Amino acid sequence: MFQSIHFNAKPRAVTNASKPEVVEKLKQIVGAENVLVEPEKVEPYGADAVKEKFPPEAVVFPETTAQMCEILKLANEYLFPVTARGGGVGYTGGAVPVDGGIVIGTDRMNKIIEINAADLYVICQPGLTTYALQQAVEKHGLLFPPDPASYKDSFIGGNIAENAGGMRTPKYGVTKHSVLGLEVVTATGEIIRTGGKTVKNVVGFDLTGLMCGSEGLLGIITEATLKLLPMPEATATVRASFKSMEAACRVLTKFTPEGLLPMAMEVVDKNCIGAIEQNFAFGLSKDANAILIVAVDGSMEEVSRNAQTIERILQENGGFDILRSRTSEEEDKLWDVRRAISPSLMKYGTLKLNEDVVVPRSKVPELISKIEDIGRQHKTFVANFGHAGDGNIHVNFMCDRDDPESIARARQCVKETFQLSVDLGGSISGEHGIGYVKAPYLNMAIDAPTLEVMKGIKKVFDPNGILNPGKMFV
Ligand SMILES: Cc1cc2nc3c(=O)[nH]c(=O)nc-3n(C[C@H](O)[C@H](O)[C@H](O)COP(=O)(O)OP(=O)(O)OC[C@H]3O[C@@H](n4cnc5c(N)ncnc54)[C@H](O)[C@@H]3O)c2cc1C
Repeated sequence: MFQSIHFNAKPRAVTNASKPEVVEKLKQIVGAENVLVEPEKVEPYGADAVKEKFPPEAVVFPETTAQMCEILKLANEYLFPVTARGGGVGYTGGAVPVDGGIVIGTDRMNKIIEINAADLYVICQPGLTTYALQQAVEKHGLLFPPDPASYKDSFIGGNIAENAGGMRTPKYGVTKHSVLGLEVVTATGEIIRTGGKTVKNVVGFDLTGLMCGSEGLLGIITEATLKLLPMPEATATVRASFKSMEAACRVLTKFTPEGLLPMAMEVVDKNCIGAIEQNFAFGLSKDANAILIVAVDGSMEEVSRNAQTIERILQENGGFDILRSRTSEEEDKLWDVRRAISPSLMKYGTLKLNEDVVVPRSKVPELISKIEDIGRQHKTFVANFGHAGDGNIHVNFMCDRDDPESIARARQCVKETFQLSVDLGGSISGEHGIGYVKAPYLNMAIDAPTLEVMKGIKKVFDPNGILNPGKMFV
């Protein structure tokens, strides 16, 4: 039996994927060395960053789109579940085969097909890490902006399927804003092509947008055409402490009247500050009840001027202990505070329920203050930080893995936080998606008629329901 803190125990699923004839056919498609069935070998493919294990019956590693089509045709014939996997660092169990079947590892589909500096696009396969792609285009003086913190491990396919965000979202948007076109293999093994190589393209429905954030439920992305930008010459960061979250967040709207669009605006709450000071002793002021980190990019001259303006704006609006980076080493150091949060929080519990709710950014102070009330009411330590510039806050409820009561309390906190976020005009996830972890709460954020439309779309793409069952709609 598999136990999850998110649903009741489930028996290990055994589907047609375990039939010897199916395993044999899979081996014929991709080569025997690219099919794993031994329990110890498939086990790592049964978990993602949620760290709950539901091992698949087999893991298959195709190298080409043609092989992907054959695998999906086989899955449709024998009706076994198929779960696509990228880097396996999702936070909602998206790549975890909760109903058994096969996992399709995209690791071998990791080639860059074309980097076109003149037309500002790159065509690549889905199994490339975000970092590898960024490095490759950087050599041509180009930028691929989406930057999830997991960029060294996450794959482009996983980023698109989750519509990942990151620090640079306030200026550059989320992953979907950098996707021009896709090649996708549907559940029935057909190849469809969406979008193209141009920013402008209004021919037909926007299936590219539909695939972004589809979490492996509609098809498997086998190739992506991604938008690039010229690499900015420089970046700089300014960090300030504030007496309250309200004061820190009030500054967020002060940049636009000065003609500034910061690339990143990150906030850290007082509980995070307490945790990091206890563990790392950065020497942050005792009066610091919030920290705001603001980063800009552009030409050298522009960055230097804008960073000075930001420093002034922070000062004029109650910021203190203000530090501005002059070199990339100094800039890196200013971000240490932000990087120290996750390891520091693990001192407050052995299990972290890490949510990523989103609200209009003016509502962030109210969100955080009410989340603190929720934590107090349910005797659960909570710490908040994240992407204040786009209202996407990482809410961390700490509990004890071996104490079911503490987990139940934390789960109640999560539920109330989701409702609060919706009530404040936001939603239950800004970037981590739904997977199986947030599936029970989907109807808090999406009304019944809209959900029915989504289920109808799923049926068109995947008539037999073989793609990533047990996710999103449960
Ligand atoms: C330390 C850490 C930091 C993180 N920081 C961020 C962050 O800043 N921003 C953010 O948005 N997220 C963040 N995440 C969450 C996560 O890394 C992202 O959701 C990322 O996009 C997942 O990519 P992956 O390749 O690991 O996908 P996986 O976890 O392997 O899969 C995620 C989903 O995508 C589907 N999928 C994978 N490949 C394909 C494909 N080729 N075709 C169709 N579907 C596919 C899977 O079936 C699954 O549903 C973080 C996670 C960790 C552990």
